[in-house]
Amino acid sequence: MCGIVGAVAQRDVAEILLEGLRRLEYRGYDSAGLAVVGADKILQRVRKLGKVNVLAGSVDLDVISGGTGIAHTRWATHGEPSESNAHPHVSLDNIAVVHNGIIENHELLRAELKDRGYHFESQTDTEVIVHLIEWELRTANTLVEAVQKTTTQLDGAYGMVALDKRDPERIVVARSGSPIVIGLGVGENFLASDQLALLNVTRRFIYLEEGDVAEITRRDVSIFDLGGEPVTRVVSEASSDHDVADKGQYRHYMQKEIFEQPTALKATMEGRINNDSIIVESIGANALEILSKVDNVQIVACGTSYNAGMTAKYWFESLAGVSCDVEIASEFRYRKFVTRENSLLITLSQSGETADTLAALRLAKEKGYMSAMTICNVAGSSLVRESDFAFMTRAGTEIGVASTKAFTTQLAALLMLVTALGKQKGTIKRSLESEIVQALHELPIQIEKALSFDKPIEELAPDFADKHHALFLGRGEFYPIAVEGSLKLKEISYIHAEAYAAGELKHGPLALIDAEMPVIVVAPTNDLLEKLKSNIEEVRARGGLLYVFADEDAGFTESEGMKIITMPKVSDIIAPIFYTIPMQLLSYHVAIIKGTDVDQPRNLAKAVTVE
Ligand code: GLU
Repeated sequence: MCGIVGAVAQRDVAEILLEGLRRLEYRGYDSAGLAVVGADKILQRVRKLGKVNVLAGSVDLDVISGGTGIAHTRWATHGEPSESNAHPHVSLDNIAVVHNGIIENHELLRAELKDRGYHFESQTDTEVIVHLIEWELRTANTLVEAVQKTTTQLDGAYGMVALDKRDPERIVVARSGSPIVIGLGVGENFLASDQLALLNVTRRFIYLEEGDVAEITRRDVSIFDLGGEPVTRVVSEASSDHDVADKGQYRHYMQKEIFEQPTALKATMEGRINNDSIIVESIGANALEILSKVDNVQIVACGTSYNAGMTAKYWFESLAGVSCDVEIASEFRYRKFVTRENSLLITLSQSGETADTLAALRLAKEKGYMSAMTICNVAGSSLVRESDFAFMTRAGTEIGVASTKAFTTQLAALLMLVTALGKQKGTIKRSLESEIVQALHELPIQIEKALSFDKPIEELAPDFADKHHALFLGRGEFYPIAVEGSLKLKEISYIHAEAYAAGELKHGPLALIDAEMPVIVVAPTNDLLEKLKSNIEEVRARGGLLYVFADEDAGFTESEGMKIITMPKVSDIIAPIFYTIPMQLLSYHVAIIKGTDVDQPRNLAKAVTVE
């Protein structure tokens, strides 16, 4: 998580660092800090508890001058959010370091460093890095060498940046497990944990690979691989539409991203479907050949992406007739699993940097999967680079910590993948392919219709704002949609929400039903509707308050204790994507009434790069 920015320039860099942090703030926001050094070789450091604007308010740009600097916005893993735990950390007022990740052997290193006389000012794991660099620099010839020697002693994950005030011409970065990108300027160079931070200063980027250490000066970038050998890494050009627009007419990024979904979905589908067929080649390199051999699918993901995977399981098995398992990445990576024959591994991640998912991919590569693909939203991310092929969701930058358009575009991508797979294997016949593709063509317009329910859903929100719990119910492929709905409510309104497959109610959760626990049901017309209606009756009989999202054919009538939100009827195939929208809108409006920080909910951060 966390955001890192750095710059080596002739001009003063404090403002560039602050702007970079603002752009990355959604990656961590419990404290922020920067350190700048100029030709006078004085290290100036400012750190503040709270968000980037608190830091910006304390940085006097006339005073904090200098062309070399590093900055950080923290998502605390070791040590409470506080000014003394905020980065950059310094050693003997010479070396400054910012770090993203976790150093697992920090206790041992801390004890060793204390024995050598180092004084620790923070509770963070990060502080061992800066003292180790200071120690190694006593015998090393260069800062790069000291950082290389330091990295050999670290267990865990890091993206880190170091500077030495006595040599203000250079910054050294290292990457192992957490991304670092170098931004190339003219007579100045930059670095960040995400290119987004630097799009206002450059569009040319180098992504470091695992184990790389690099020295950055105004004019040069020298990169060394894990073995210390000089290497050249590809320079890539970011397209101009990658920049984050502002919130425009919207109050929050999350709201903007909810309303962007019709456009985002169009982008996901562009060039991938024809009038009535799927373009299999568009799934990725060698997709034609690989997909025809797949007998099993293993999806691995976390959070919202896991819920997308759960939805797709229904599609893989019911539409394409291919068995599909879905597992949470943090479980999968530490479990002794059995790889089925001819299995395709699919990782799902918005950022492409989710630490557990990336670790699962690396593990799976050793475990005999036929091929590993990723469905991802960020080009050039680690998952994209390390997978055999990538299917980009093209949702555009997602800033709101609670994922919205990344989820629905993942679902659209998965539905296209299922169709391509079934087509290649001959399990999806021409007529079904055409039906799915027609439904996909209608998707953006149907999502517009779902968004038009914003007002009526806003009117429901006060019913939830004073509640402490909520229950979401669904069956079949609407069960994971209920799970995703409950996750959104938890994330941004801090209301405890659970989701159950409605058939499970009587096996326990029914005991919780009373007038204080609203029950939200995703109930479009389908084969399971009658079963679901019985489950709804079970709740009514126990005095539960129901909010039923259904379509006009479902035949519900509103009555005491049961509100019906009647949505238009859409094709069964895209209905899970369609019913995601009212769930997003509901949690958004509840959060607004509760006055929470919608885009940056407490304790969370975007792009979970720590395990
Ligand atoms: N583990 C470090 C800390 O707690 C870095 C956290 C981060 O990635 O923001 O300070």
